[in-house]
Amino acid sequence: MLLRHTTKEIKPRSALTINPAKTCQPIGAMYAALGIHGCLPHSHGSQGCCAYHRSALTRHYKEPVMAATSSFTEGSSVFGGQANMLQAINNIFTVYDPEVIAIHTTCLSETIGDDLSQMKKKAFDDGIIPEGKEIIFCNTPSYVGAHPNGFSNMVKGMVDGLCEPSDDKLRTVNIIPGWVEPSDMREIKRYCAEMGVEIIMFPDTSGILDTPQTGKRDFYPKGGCTVAELREAGSSQATIAMGPTCSGAAARSLDVKCKVTPEIIELPIGLSATDKFINTLRKVAGVAVPESVTDERGRLVDLITDMHQYFYGKRVALYGDPDQLVSLAQFIVDLDMIPAYIVTGTPGKKLLKRLKAVLGDKYNEDNIAIGQQADMFLMHQWIKNNPVDLMIGNTYGKYISRDENIPLLRHGFPIYDRIGHSYFPTVGYAGAIRLCEKMLDIFMSKQDNESPEEKFELVL
Ligand code: SF4
Repeated sequence: MLLRHTTKEIKPRSALTINPAKTCQPIGAMYAALGIHGCLPHSHGSQGCCAYHRSALTRHYKEPVMAATSSFTEGSSVFGGQANMLQAINNIFTVYDPEVIAIHTTCLSETIGDDLSQMKKKAFDDGIIPEGKEIIFCNTPSYVGAHPNGFSNMVKGMVDGLCEPSDDKLRTVNIIPGWVEPSDMREIKRYCAEMGVEIIMFPDTSGILDTPQTGKRDFYPKGGCTVAELREAGSSQATIAMGPTCSGAAARSLDVKCKVTPEIIELPIGLSATDKFINTLRKVAGVAVPESVTDERGRLVDLITDMHQYFYGKRVALYGDPDQLVSLAQFIVDLDMIPAYIVTGTPGKKLLKRLKAVLGDKYNEDNIAIGQQADMFLMHQWIKNNPVDLMIGNTYGKYISRDENIPLLRHGFPIYDRIGHSYFPTVGYAGAIRLCEKMLDIFMSKQDNESPEEKFELVL
């Protein structure tokens, strides 16, 4: 009983969060920045923050995550971090030679009010930004929002800092994939290629956070969206932004700055959300859906039919980040399961509306918690009062899973206690097939493990 102090009785709380269902904003900004080729993320704050952000990403992706820091001391905390920042920019370009430095703030630099825009101008005026090199930045105060907001802010920073307007439109479609695994980004690119659509994807962490072992170490792996591609994204004919929380702001900003029409959709996880993605891609690019993609969809539908009897009526607790939650909840309903509880520490009033849109008559606001007090403690209390058959979310659910003997399907960020999640996509029809297989395996294994001998069957 690791969480033996969790009570069944739920009392209103307004100033206490226990085991929050979120991490800090700059982690999202750092992950997004790694999706630009030749980019060195820079954390404007103390060394401790940067070490935490790097280790969180390293533990999830099992890859070394490089980032620089302004290394605040007591002096910079009192007088501001500009001197440290300018020194850092000079050192980074001299020693590490990135194409672009992507700067995000931290709680400390936000609290003292450092102005990144003014600092970039000063760096430019002082001549410490070499010709052809770039600096982009965003604000990520972690006392508001969570890691998906940091991701969103940095992707918007890419648009604001690098995309260029043009009257000569290209045939390309921009894809902003949202916070998904590198394998998911690769899978989305595969669908676009199958449909013959030329795309610019940003950010793109495939080939950066899942690099092959070659015996040779590249400080800047070959993957990622290039600065040149980001500039050209302003000339694309449309943008498909996946996940309104992580990608919506950048798509809207690109529309305002470069007049690229945005299509903001949910993450293509599960059957309905993938249908929406394929249909949106078909429409904006003016292409037909090839038979190979239709066949993939058909295989998923066939599998769902085979598995339906085992899924029907199962209660599922979902927790994590808004974009994943909406699509997963919709998929759970598609499978005739019940999204019993939905919890996210990431604030945002629009999430209720989005959930209502995908859940229809399965929508129940009493079982949804969003924001500061939407913590794992509350979800545990809900489960104690009315248990579920399955939990889907990140590693932080493992304590509840163990205490209540409820299986946990690890999905989302962070996953610290398993390896391989970043190599297998869960987006698209093939990703949905994988999710179905994992869920059914969990249900069947539990049944096998807990069946009395007389009910232990070879064929299930
Ligand atoms: S101080 Fe703020 S930015 Fe730094 S690690 Fe903590 S929450 Fe994140």
